[in-house]
Amino acid sequence: MYCCAKCFKNKSIQKFISNNTGEKKADCVYCGSKNTEVVSLIDLRHFLVGCIDKAYEYNDDFVDDVQRYSVAEIMTEIEDVFSDDTDSELLMSDIFSKSFIDIKDAINDYYADINNEAFYIKYDSLGVENLDAYHAWESFKYEVMHYNRFFDVTDKQSRESYLWQLLKYLKEIKVTSGTCFYRVRGFDPLPDNINDLDLYMEMGPPPPGKSINNRMNPAGIPYLYLSDTKETALLEKGDNLRFKLIAEFTAKKNLRVVDLSDSWMVDIFSIFDSEYNHDDYWIKDFIIKFTTEISKPVDKEGEEHPYEYVLTQIVAEYLRMQNYDGICYSSSKCDGKNFVFFYGSKPDESLTDKRDFLGVRMLPYFADYFDITKIEKDNYVNNASK
Ligand SMILES: [Zn+2]
Repeated sequence: MYCCAKCFKNKSIQKFISNNTGEKKADCVYCGSKNTEVVSLIDLRHFLVGCIDKAYEYNDDFVDDVQRYSVAEIMTEIEDVFSDDTDSELLMSDIFSKSFIDIKDAINDYYADINNEAFYIKYDSLGVENLDAYHAWESFKYEVMHYNRFFDVTDKQSRESYLWQLLKYLKEIKVTSGTCFYRVRGFDPLPDNINDLDLYMEMGPPPPGKSINNRMNPAGIPYLYLSDTKETALLEKGDNLRFKLIAEFTAKKNLRVVDLSDSWMVDIFSIFDSEYNHDDYWIKDFIIKFTTEISKPVDKEGEEHPYEYVLTQIVAEYLRMQNYDGICYSSSKCDGKNFVFFYGSKPDESLTDKRDFLGVRMLPYFADYFDITKIEKDNYVNNASK
């Protein structure tokens, strides 16, 4: 018995069939294709069972309370592999039919009853703890908060090797030249003529000597924090400022940013894809956990747990080291997004000679990457400070 690649819409199964027809041609009784290359159902069955075995385990003692699936559910509802043109019921029962099994294997043929809900996801009870990435992140957090921060004190496993394991799951987005961002700064009183302000000095990151500990930067190393909209920028700044100025920043170059906002998901491969890794089942949960921790509100003064910022600061510096321009993360105040770019304030000319003499590196000036294209007053005035 044979079927053809057109019986399926799953690309990996189609590929398997194309590679295993041996150029044999016949009419496909399941989808009706005439004189088409076909594959033996025995070969196909062998492939499908191998793939299902990577992700599912058969267990017919229904003692524990885990979600179970039948072969039919896995093939149709979960993986949705069949094309609309094929008789999927008939094809499935033929593929998994007992008649294909050697007699000696028949008693162990779990697949023959395609409607028996006796398959559960392997290792599901451990959930996200199945992932190496989960253990890497938890180990990293503990070490930098409570064991060693600035160097690897022991040579057991470096903090960089933990972060390296997360890197493969991170998604890069391109910020294209011309994209606008916003930044808010409070003033009291508001300057008489905002057009006279040195905007690049007043609205950019603070100079290194005034830079405080923040989510992504340690005190003394100022980065440029921007938001995707004016509303996000205003909400991030809070309402305890009497007067605010909103500056519009426009990117002058294409920039590479790691997206740690929670609005994306990793590509999850079908269990029939050769790239499938069983970790994929939990990676979505892990990414949500990781990005939530990165963007969660932190005690503003950093008094209770001043080391909470350390995690995100080290992650940021690590990504800077990988030649990214910045990080995008979710606002904890609204649905908007925040961006941090690893670019600093206007260079202090008086220190240039000393810096050149010492050969000291400095953060690139943000104006090489952004123009300030607009400045406006925020009309909102906080009642409490009237
Ligand atoms: Zn077919």
